[in-house]
Amino acid sequence: MSQQRWHQLSTQDVIRLQKTDALSGLSDREAKRRLEAAGPNVLSEGVRISPIVLLLNQFKDFMVLVLVGATLISGLLGEYLDAITILAIIVMNGILGFIQEYRAEKSLRALKELSAPTAKVIRNGEVNEVGAHTLVPGDIILLESGDRIPADVRFLEVNSLYVEESALTGESVPVNKRIDTILEEDAPLGDRRNLGFLGTMVTRGTARAVVIATGMDTEMGKIADLIQTTDAMATPLQHRLEQLGKLLIVIALALTVMVVAAGIMHGQPAYGMFLAGVSLAVAAIPEGLPAIVTIALALGVQRMIKRKAIVRKLPSVETLGCASVICSDKTGTLTQNKMTVTHLWSGGSLYEVSGLGYEPYGEITQQGKRIDARRDSALRRLLQVGVLCNNAVLVEQSGEAVAPKAAMKAAKEGKSAASPGTKKTCDIKGDPTEGALLVLGSKAGMTRQSLAGMYTRVKEFPFDAERKRMSVVVQHQGGRIVCVKGAPDLLLDQCSYILWEGNVVPLTGTLRQKMMAANEAMAKQALRVLALAYRDVKEHESCDTEEEAERGLTLIGLAGMIDPPREEVKDAILTCKQAGIKTVMITGDHQLTAEAIAKQLGILPRNGKVINGKQLAAMSDEDLDEKVDQIYVFARVAPEHKLRIVKSLQRRGHVVAMTGDGVNDAPAIKAADIGIAMGITGTDVSKEASSLVLSDDNFATIVAAIEEGRNIYENIRKFIRYLLASNVGEILVMFIAMMLGMPLPLVPIMILWVNLVTDGLPAMALGIDPSESDLMKQKPRPAKENIFARRLGWKILSRGVLIGLCTLAAFWLTLKSEPDHLSLAQTVAFATLVMAQLIHVFDCRSSRSIFHRNVFENKYLVLAVLSSIGLLLGVIYIDALQPVFKTVDLGIREWALVLVFAGIPTFLMGAGSVLRGGAPKKKKIIYGGGMPGSKSNPVIR
Ligand code: ATP
Repeated sequence: MSQQRWHQLSTQDVIRLQKTDALSGLSDREAKRRLEAAGPNVLSEGVRISPIVLLLNQFKDFMVLVLVGATLISGLLGEYLDAITILAIIVMNGILGFIQEYRAEKSLRALKELSAPTAKVIRNGEVNEVGAHTLVPGDIILLESGDRIPADVRFLEVNSLYVEESALTGESVPVNKRIDTILEEDAPLGDRRNLGFLGTMVTRGTARAVVIATGMDTEMGKIADLIQTTDAMATPLQHRLEQLGKLLIVIALALTVMVVAAGIMHGQPAYGMFLAGVSLAVAAIPEGLPAIVTIALALGVQRMIKRKAIVRKLPSVETLGCASVICSDKTGTLTQNKMTVTHLWSGGSLYEVSGLGYEPYGEITQQGKRIDARRDSALRRLLQVGVLCNNAVLVEQSGEAVAPKAAMKAAKEGKSAASPGTKKTCDIKGDPTEGALLVLGSKAGMTRQSLAGMYTRVKEFPFDAERKRMSVVVQHQGGRIVCVKGAPDLLLDQCSYILWEGNVVPLTGTLRQKMMAANEAMAKQALRVLALAYRDVKEHESCDTEEEAERGLTLIGLAGMIDPPREEVKDAILTCKQAGIKTVMITGDHQLTAEAIAKQLGILPRNGKVINGKQLAAMSDEDLDEKVDQIYVFARVAPEHKLRIVKSLQRRGHVVAMTGDGVNDAPAIKAADIGIAMGITGTDVSKEASSLVLSDDNFATIVAAIEEGRNIYENIRKFIRYLLASNVGEILVMFIAMMLGMPLPLVPIMILWVNLVTDGLPAMALGIDPSESDLMKQKPRPAKENIFARRLGWKILSRGVLIGLCTLAAFWLTLKSEPDHLSLAQTVAFATLVMAQLIHVFDCRSSRSIFHRNVFENKYLVLAVLSSIGLLLGVIYIDALQPVFKTVDLGIREWALVLVFAGIPTFLMGAGSVLRGGAPKKKKIIYGGGMPGSKSNPVIR
């Protein structure tokens, strides 16, 4: 059927035409059959670079073209050996480049797949979360606030549903969806309010819908070609290195021209100097740098995945290392989000509830005396509302719902849900806060199933972080009851009465105060508190909107639940402190609850401030900027407050990492330097806005990601130092020798070989170097720090110059003792250059010196260096290779000379560092030192 008309059909007709069941959905078998027929629910991908194209791309490089030119000229001049060797080097270089880029490309693609969307689908009558690509027409799906609609759908049931369709219609105001039939055949997409479209976002409410089109058949599919954008995902560092690379090409070419000119002026043969020039230019230009940076980034990202942090935007890897503040949600990120009700307050009395986690065993007691909740009208109502105003599901670990009969029977006998002999463990599907209320109910024998016969839900006003409450309207014995639960301080405004000593009485000021005191007493013990209320609806009264339903309520009481902090978080917060990163808690929960948990976790220092949403709203931006550095906890905030907090911190010069899970958190996540979404509880909207997703929702994972981010950046600095110092050394040897009119210290093939073998492998091994032990004891790096900062430029130049001078010295000394044996001196120079670089590579691992780190720690590096040494020996000693590389055998005396001169650059500088007392003093970075309100950079002192 043409999709044009789905909006003109009634829900029943759509269900009939799709041959599905509105409640139990398709069967698994039918879904599989339809998937085979319709194909997967994906938009066809843009063109992928095929491996062959990638391989061919390697030979388009400017440097390769120069080498090809050199091969041709050598061939034309009859120097076939040179021509073949250069050709072999081109091919090997190409293959190495291909392997590097292919790996990088593959891991980037794997990253994309990791963040693939999912959908909640009903099949065989059961709700399951499946990959959105497996949806088929006829599937019944469930949608809630924050979901990305996974296919084109016709709504069957909606509860205050709003969908943002700007991706399709350009209209950014969310559309209120409904289920009635629309008659105009050519109604524009934006007016088809009974349809939902792939790729649009649910901003509020919940819905049940039937899939009417998937993949390229959807409205989005029709314009897929238009929206396919190629996201290059290059990081700022990669851009800067690209520019640096261009500059280096110019410098290297200029120096090469000078070397060649000087050589020819001093009587060197023109062909020899031409080859030497080409080789030098090729060797001096770090053309492998971008690929190695990509590999280091990609491998680092894979390490992050192992540590449960999924990077969605590559540039954030760099920014992570600069993070100076982490703003974290409380529930689920700092805490376990495993709620257990431990206290109840009703009618002025406080009750305790025993039991562990989600196990449905426990008792309600008052001053040690067991209470039968079913015989206490207020407690019974409290528990009932908790179970009715609830969307969570309690499942046995084996997967079955808790048997209501057993619970009823146990309850009838006055016991908790089951006897200890038949202990079962339970888990929660859905919101843990609601799960805790289900567990509470089942401890007193009250389950959803046991209430189902008497109460039927007719309407729901879903929970959202703005209202901080949820309500349902249920039908009961011919009448309707509104059941509400939510944040006590806010719900109080909706209440006119209270259940007090068994009677409904007006909620007077005194009673209000009593309730608030009970709320605060619980919150101070780090409990999350929910108030529960109800109202009997009069027959003719309308209950269609939240305003109509949630007013004149009768407060029943409070439920206080513990949510233990995650064990690893305390250490992670300490690590942050040592790393100069401030942790800020931003939560929708009560101020006292937040403060108590912040103290437990070590977030709140003695002079740290806690403020709530109301106080924040009353502050001007200037006021906030002035105080924001002292505030460690923001409580009872609405999601939109988060954006103000991020902006204020950024104005103070901070690099902000911000977590979030809901739809309304998306703007703050986007605005933060590193937006972090929750993999488990996060909505699709928040994930799409984020640059990092935590697959375990855990704060400690953010710290792990920051550590990796810092390490990746340091590793990039390490191999930049190694490659550039090597290049400086190579150019200098040739440059000085030519200027002084000496013979060529290195023949062209040797230079090409050094470039290929000595540079590539060790540099890659540096890219995966383990971090230095004090990595998380240093202050964050300023965001605008130059890559050559912290003396890196000096190190490159000093080591490079020393490597060049030492190589030249070894060459000159050998030549002086055996003036007729140029090949011997060249072989010594070659070996000295290679060995000096291979020793220097270990020095690059440390910000201090070679003596400050265990040389054998990076096994890949040791292996790379050993294989480079093996290859060097092969080139020197294998008879067949000697004519190619123009080498000769070296004796012990020569090797002694080689090793002494090769060691000088590293050991001399290392000894200097040790004598100076270790590392040059670290600079202390003080944040927020700029003018208040100005976008100040960190001040370095
Ligand atoms: P965060 O995750 O941002 O640290 P939070 O999860 O504690 O904070 P919200 O989920 O916005 O914050 O909850 C705020 C308040 O809303 C809670 O303190 C609680 O009183 C109330 N609340 C939470 N969940 C529900 C729910 N499912 N139904 C009704 N009220 C709820």
